[in-house]
Amino acid sequence: MQLTYQKAAAEDYESLNQKLKKKDSLEILKWAYQTYGDELVYACSFGAEGIVLIDMIHKVKKDAVIVFLDTDFHFKETYELIDRVKERYPSLRIEMTKPELTPEEQAEVHGPELWKVNPDLCCSIRKLIPLEQQLNQYTAWISGLRREQSPTRANTEFVNQDRRFQSIKICPLIHWTEEEIWMYIRLHQLPYNELHDKNYPSIGCEHCTKAVLAGEDARSGRWADTNKTECGLHLDK
Ligand code: SF4
Repeated sequence: MQLTYQKAAAEDYESLNQKLKKKDSLEILKWAYQTYGDELVYACSFGAEGIVLIDMIHKVKKDAVIVFLDTDFHFKETYELIDRVKERYPSLRIEMTKPELTPEEQAEVHGPELWKVNPDLCCSIRKLIPLEQQLNQYTAWISGLRREQSPTRANTEFVNQDRRFQSIKICPLIHWTEEEIWMYIRLHQLPYNELHDKNYPSIGCEHCTKAVLAGEDARSGRWADTNKTECGLHLDK
């Protein structure tokens, strides 16, 4: 069954997730690409989950489209990782999605260091609007959310109604633990961001990501000096 955002009701998601619930992540990806084909895009942040998903997606659809929200503020290690992934999986179509404003233009229009003054606006300009423009071209998208990552992600299903982007959000890794993610990466010798070995479990823009101390929550290094916990991509409107 192919759900579309415009046509599906809450019970359609429930019954579909009921049918899919015994499938593993690779089977979910096979179902997703069989169902949506080129109408499906993966929005990847190139974190540890992202690398696992890329490897699995490559097994299912060699020329899948993967978009990266290039805010212009990522760590050099993240850009280096993307180059290594492109080398390992040359058939995948990895696209860098840029915001409309360059960092200089953003500073001119909204003032310097917007990420400190108004991080929600900064994320909106550099992540949310570019992703919205991308997702408008597709029926469904894939995300690497895992339930144990945060309370706001605990109820994520394989197939989700995405009100913010008026899309279908497919999350094949909902049940995975962090340990399983790393077992997969090591088992398949996948490339990963070197910052993970320097106490950066969750990596976003350089301005808004810090290393965490032993025992701290994995996402506590993101927007560490503010109340912000999510960039807004995974929050309903
Ligand atoms: S994570 Fe920080 S620097 Fe990146 S877009 Fe959001 S506020 Fe701006």
